[in-house]
Amino acid sequence: MRVLIAGGGIGGLSAALACSIGGNDVRLFERSPEFAEVGAGIQLGPNAVKLLHGWGQADALRSVAAFPDSLEVRSAVTGGALGRLTLGKSAVQRYGYPYATVHRADLHGLLLAALKPYPQTTLGCNMGLDKFLQDADGVTLHLSAGGPVRGEVLVGADGLWSRVRSQLLNDGPPIATGHLAYRALIPQASLPPALRSGCIVAWVGPKLHVVQYPVRGGEWLNVVGIVHGRVDGSLDNWNHAANASTLRVALAGMCSPLQNLIQAIDSWRLWALCRRAPMHGAYEQAKGRVALLGDAAHPMLPYLAQGAGMAIEDAAELGRCLGQSPQADAVFDPHSDIKSRLQRYAQARWQRNARVQARALLNGQIFHASGLVRWGRDLSMKWGGERVLDLPWLYRDPGLAG
Ligand code: FAD
Repeated sequence: MRVLIAGGGIGGLSAALACSIGGNDVRLFERSPEFAEVGAGIQLGPNAVKLLHGWGQADALRSVAAFPDSLEVRSAVTGGALGRLTLGKSAVQRYGYPYATVHRADLHGLLLAALKPYPQTTLGCNMGLDKFLQDADGVTLHLSAGGPVRGEVLVGADGLWSRVRSQLLNDGPPIATGHLAYRALIPQASLPPALRSGCIVAWVGPKLHVVQYPVRGGEWLNVVGIVHGRVDGSLDNWNHAANASTLRVALAGMCSPLQNLIQAIDSWRLWALCRRAPMHGAYEQAKGRVALLGDAAHPMLPYLAQGAGMAIEDAAELGRCLGQSPQADAVFDPHSDIKSRLQRYAQARWQRNARVQARALLNGQIFHASGLVRWGRDLSMKWGGERVLDLPWLYRDPGLAG
């Protein structure tokens, strides 16, 4: 089967890998002039790490990731500890796989390298999808370069502003949340010892939160600060150099360890966060011969740190559904047509994706709470302990069919 993929981010490359492993002929088209990821970190729960291991990437991940021992929640106002979840070996005992933190470029590079042994898979840059046409026998892509391309399936992994989604569903653009994400990466060695960190720390405060965690084996620290605010102009591709003073003003009045961390970093990039409502049905994940995957299907706020995790889960499920392995054939009627395979993919994925989207939205409200909600949050972390922070339904079970 020839699988066409639009978009070469973490979702698109994961889909290419899963479908290549499944024995498909994969052609991936990326709009940008080169394959690259933004300079920022990403957290990967045991649910996503399990799938990377399943694709034979355990050693490659170990060589680039950090595996923090704990997640600590602190008050951004007082600096006091609110809650703690042990990770490290404890996460492996609970879920079978570790909780990892990784530089996006390293994860992206790992996926690119993993595709090298599949000569039937081709990756093209500078080839943005302009439009597609689907008919009874296949899908035809019209790209920004070269002639039309024909295949049996199209996977729209083209991100938040997906062109595949807008043509397939015509449901309008994502909406601005009024939340801004400032991101920075800094070598730990360049920070004063008191600011270096080997664990994940989430500082929560009124209308803001900051998350820090190690990447690159712990040598670098990734910091993300989320505050309320708006930016002018088009939101499409909002990834700009940021004025650090704006973030510092937003965090004025917060505790001194947090202020010191923010003051120590000069170079930030700014994202305006956008979202869609949680998925309503399987039709948002696949229709006919076209599947949506990752942010194209279910953009989510980063407050559960699972957007890429869900893209990787989507990819694994898609690989199973389109796979030609005896295992997949045991799950599927080998004579079932492509549309029903994609329907199976959509049915297997949409509810879990919707649940994660909704939980991420809720987390944003809890993180940024003030007044009574803040009081309830702090008390439940104090009395509930790890149970409040642990999410077995999310970390244990990627919910894959078969
Ligand atoms: P993208 O990464 O957007 O990739 C889409 C690709 O498609 C791009 O390469 C783009 O150039 C290409 N493209 C676009 N249009 C076309 C076209 N017409 N034709 C061809 N190619 C096209 N997730 C986590 O799991 N853990 C985290 O800790 C985490 N932290 C986050 C922090 C922040 C501040 C933000 C904003 C997000 C975070 N996420 C996190 C979410 C995660 O980044 C995304 O969910 C994930 O990167 C989505 O991957 P994707 O491949 O679906 O989309």
